[in-house]
Amino acid sequence: MLPAFTPLGEEEVHLTESTGRYLSREVVARFDSPPFDNSAMDGYAVRAKDVAAASPDHAIELPVRGESRAGGPLPAPLEPGAACRIFTGAPMPAGADAVVIQEDTDRQGDLVQIRKASPKARHLRAQGSDLSSGALLLRPGDRIWPGEIGLLASQNIDRVHVYRRPRVALLSTGDELRALGEELEPGTIINSNIYVLTEMLRALGVIPVALPAARDTLPEIEAALRKALEADVVITTGGVSVGEYDFIHEAFENVGIKPRFWKVRIKPGKPLAVAQYQGKPVIGVPGNPMSAMVTFEVLIAPCLRKMLGDPQPHPQPVLARLRNPYRRSPGRVEIARGVATREGDEILVALHDCQGSGSLPSFVGINALVILPADKAELAAGERVEAILWGPGLRGQRSPFDELA
Ligand code: AMP
Ligand code: MG
Repeated sequence: MLPAFTPLGEEEVHLTESTGRYLSREVVARFDSPPFDNSAMDGYAVRAKDVAAASPDHAIELPVRGESRAGGPLPAPLEPGAACRIFTGAPMPAGADAVVIQEDTDRQGDLVQIRKASPKARHLRAQGSDLSSGALLLRPGDRIWPGEIGLLASQNIDRVHVYRRPRVALLSTGDELRALGEELEPGTIINSNIYVLTEMLRALGVIPVALPAARDTLPEIEAALRKALEADVVITTGGVSVGEYDFIHEAFENVGIKPRFWKVRIKPGKPLAVAQYQGKPVIGVPGNPMSAMVTFEVLIAPCLRKMLGDPQPHPQPVLARLRNPYRRSPGRVEIARGVATREGDEILVALHDCQGSGSLPSFVGINALVILPADKAELAAGERVEAILWGPGLRGQRSPFDELA
């Protein structure tokens, strides 16, 4: 599926709008960081050689000349044999090359007793020691998180080039589907998939475009598909299997959407249909809520991440051990719902009792999608499996931080 998905081009956004986005260009430092020599501590700026002989038994007395505080007026150059009162983040006076921390001094009026030597550059943050002007800060494909925001903000970089966010149309099909809040006549159900998939799309960082559900008729599905094709990617749910009222394949064909493949050997999610309209990806996921969610997470989300500019879009499963034994009919790779917890140096995963593809209560609290190999019928407790951590993230029975509480 991946080759059909490519980044859409770039746009420039304000730094405060860029979290979660992938950079499309390199970013380089605009200036040295720190931009000026400054003190790392509260204390006294000195010439190191003036205090080289200082010790607790042999304090050296220096006259205090001036003060430098963060954001204050720039200090005058330091005369030899003098000290300048200085605070954290404040510019070093010219001529000073070390800081003696306040704790190693005694102040009496205009004099300070230095009780400890401070070699050159001690407690000093030198201009350019973090970054030189022009240094490479971030590369294309890097994702912006709060740390990256901090770096770019510190460089006064207020706009960045990122890949465009694709618009992804969601089209549910099914006569039985009703929107949230609508009355449920007998035989109808709420279109829960549209809400699940909208949030999964949002969480990825793409723009969801939820269309009204289409009824199970060819004309209605075709009209809705034409509308959906205004987006960059189309995802349909339902009607993709082999039933009498499964019209997706025929509707695709009538609209000119070319099938690429149909059915994948995974469980749940077997009837997935992958197609293309003039290079635009169109994917039909099964209507079963679990099938829709799993195929989205395992197959579609990596494609969308690639489209968003992620150079490593595939999930990175962790190794875990099964908490309980599990029996299954072999044949397809199974993506099972589970709850993963960290215990010591291992991750244990408890598979949900209910793995039915329609069960919505079994969505709750899931933080792992466990990959069970196609050929295995019996998995023992303690057996190693791969698991894609998902949703709310890893929980632990106990955290090392508990002891601090
Ligand atoms: P289908 O893929 O259309 O054969 O539907 C399979 C099952 O999923 C049926 O029980 C449908 O009622 C149910 N279903 C289909 N679409 C949705 C949806 N959007 N939200 C919730 N359940 C659905
Ligand atoms: Mg249906």
